[in-house]
Amino acid sequence: MLKIGSHVSFSDKGLLTATKEALTYGSSSFMIYTGAPQNTRRKPIEDLYIPEGKEAMASAGIGEIVVHAPYIINLASYKEDTFDLAVNFLQEEIRRTASIGVKNIVLHPGAYTEKDPEYGVARIAEGLNLVLEGTKELDVNIALETMAGKGTEIGRSFEEIAAIIEKVRDNHRLTVCMDTCHMHDAGYDIVRDIDGVLRKFDDVVGLDRVAVVHINDSKNPQGAGKDRHAPIGAGWIGFEAINRVVHHDGLKGRPFILETPWIGKDGSSERPMYEAEIALLRADVEERFGGEFLEDVERLHHFYDKSDIEPRLYVLNTWELLKSDAKARKADPREPMERLYDLAVENRVLSSDYSEEQINLRLTASLAGKELLAKL
Ligand SMILES: [Zn+2]
Repeated sequence: MLKIGSHVSFSDKGLLTATKEALTYGSSSFMIYTGAPQNTRRKPIEDLYIPEGKEAMASAGIGEIVVHAPYIINLASYKEDTFDLAVNFLQEEIRRTASIGVKNIVLHPGAYTEKDPEYGVARIAEGLNLVLEGTKELDVNIALETMAGKGTEIGRSFEEIAAIIEKVRDNHRLTVCMDTCHMHDAGYDIVRDIDGVLRKFDDVVGLDRVAVVHINDSKNPQGAGKDRHAPIGAGWIGFEAINRVVHHDGLKGRPFILETPWIGKDGSSERPMYEAEIALLRADVEERFGGEFLEDVERLHHFYDKSDIEPRLYVLNTWELLKSDAKARKADPREPMERLYDLAVENRVLSSDYSEEQINLRLTASLAGKELLAKL
């Protein structure tokens, strides 16, 4: 079975809350941060509802899940206090990960700030050696994430990931988390040549190292070095390319995790599109949402045809306009999904009883393309 899910909240009742949320999206896997990603405050392990969560996972058929380490960990830092905090806190996170019964903790390798990439790679390896040594008895791997290359972050190329692995003694406990948005933003052509990209990865790092795949679309064109996620189909990668990643033989059996942004007119109405994204990638939209949902998506396509809108082109042109034309952005800062939402509402394409979320789920599905829907 395809292992697919999203980032979910680990607050309140910890693993139990996370599992319940994941099930509302129809997930068969999920990813958690053990606490706020931007700080080191953590609840005691007894308060994380681990037995209850595991029971809920087992009865729902959720097996493998993933932990993500917080962003504040920077193993590439030349500052002693930042580096020490990173080493110590990552060890604590690995112990928590082991207690939850999770095999892989995803880590952003680090940012070299005022130094240089070579320094960054060596420093990260130094940190990983300490971390792995201090957690030797635990069966947890560190999954180094492929990064977009914004700022001074390390991990923008497969070679950088390989260089870290090579410098670490106990490197059998190092795995990799691929991120589609990051690889695309770092310049890899996952849209037209996923086979070539995975072949390259296999040559440089080895595909057997890949333990997790983050599936995100990108608000920027290939090579932009930006790292801004978009819902699947609402960015430069597109549904078809992400679908090829999820079903690629070379990545079979890995958990695929969405970290796509929530969509809504304002902060309080923002909702995740995970449920639609998962159903589309698993090709069970009708089972999940019912036949009427697909009729609505057809209605949207009929509207696009009538209005001379090619939805993918519309999305990409809007991102391009927002990026390149400051005046136009100031006059109308709405992102493509919001513009499509407004068009659908103004033209009464869908039932007026629908909530904003219900409309957005249908819009997300419409971005998978009508050819694909015909095949479902
Ligand atoms: Zn990440």
